[in-house]
Amino acid sequence: MSDPLTPFYTIIEDMKKKGLYNNIRTVESQQGAWFTVNGKKVLNLCSNNYLGLASHPRMKKAAIESITKYGVGPGAVRVLSGTNSLHLQLEEALATFKKTESAIVVQSGFIANIIGIQTIMGKEDIVISDELNHASIIDAIRLAQISNKFIYKHGDMNELEARLKEAKELQKTPRKDGGQRIILVVTDGVFSMDGDIAPLDKIVILAKKFGAVTMVDDAHGEGVLGSHGRGIVDHFHLHGQVDIEIGTLSKALGVVGGVIVGKKELIEVYRQKGRPFSFSTGLTIPDTAALIEAIAILSESDELVKKLWENAAYLKKGFESLGFNTGVTQTPITPVMIGDENKAKEFSMKLFEKNIFATPIKFPMVALGKARIRVMPNSLHSKKDLDFALSAFAEVGKELGII
Ligand code: PMP
Repeated sequence: MSDPLTPFYTIIEDMKKKGLYNNIRTVESQQGAWFTVNGKKVLNLCSNNYLGLASHPRMKKAAIESITKYGVGPGAVRVLSGTNSLHLQLEEALATFKKTESAIVVQSGFIANIIGIQTIMGKEDIVISDELNHASIIDAIRLAQISNKFIYKHGDMNELEARLKEAKELQKTPRKDGGQRIILVVTDGVFSMDGDIAPLDKIVILAKKFGAVTMVDDAHGEGVLGSHGRGIVDHFHLHGQVDIEIGTLSKALGVVGGVIVGKKELIEVYRQKGRPFSFSTGLTIPDTAALIEAIAILSESDELVKKLWENAAYLKKGFESLGFNTGVTQTPITPVMIGDENKAKEFSMKLFEKNIFATPIKFPMVALGKARIRVMPNSLHSKKDLDFALSAFAEVGKELGII
């Protein structure tokens, strides 16, 4: 009998040959400026723990105290008996922090995008999406089975307007049930591979002109952009003007989970009809308690956000003066462009030998031939840490002929 798994072995072989195989390393300490990976203490330049909250003493304390009081697991899906008072407290804190009417907390940012789109959109509706939007937005559109999909060139407002005009034409034909087709414009806030910011102010103006619903995925803007890290909507002073704001609680906020904020009526629709909300258990007790503390920490002071930006500016200037290309970034996400997939992998491996962990980003996360090392500073790094990184990048860059 032949082995029914044979096709999968060739997939892996093929990925290895093309330099696309992911060598997944193991972290053996808490997150921080430095951490232990595969038995080695290395400088951490690859986590999304932008503000160092993942191991913040106040977060740990909040999590431990909540376990003592409520236990660990929520016990059931949120719509049955699994909504703990901490979940509601977190939702209220997030709505206040984001200056919106209401918030719903779900299991991840990925799930938040799925719920955000799948719950309100159907086959006959129309979606207009930036070509570089995150995989979870793409999958949400697929799951909603929306047949009228328009993709616009990254950040290109002329093309967005042209697609909106086409959508408006399509909208003239009502749905089979007689209702009007929804037009949804969806974009990442900060693009996670390049670090550039979506022109959300312009997107909102265009969407309003054509009566479209707007949705932004603020995964990398949360805790990073706007006053006290309130995110992209705050950055552009667009409070109340973006219909669906998605966030993740796993990056700058240091834990895990996703959130959707917006008008009360809309959030209530997600609470009543969101499938992963109804059919999958919500956040654990310690996750939820730690996140309430994260919002308190951010609300009290913008010190961590300021330190993050200071570190990012120092690194970017350092890379550029060494002759590296950091692309089009406008945020702490700092891509160091390499090009070839295998070279990016080799670059990362050589950095690891020098006690630095910075991951290579390659196809399918970015286009073929656009591989890079994505450098993610955080607010825990000292100038000494960043100088250590810059000198190692200089050595490897010269060795591999990048600079
Ligand atoms: N959206 C974007 C833009 C992201 O970068 C990510 C995380 N890679 C997600 C959504 C998913 O977030 P989570 O890890 O919380 O599921």
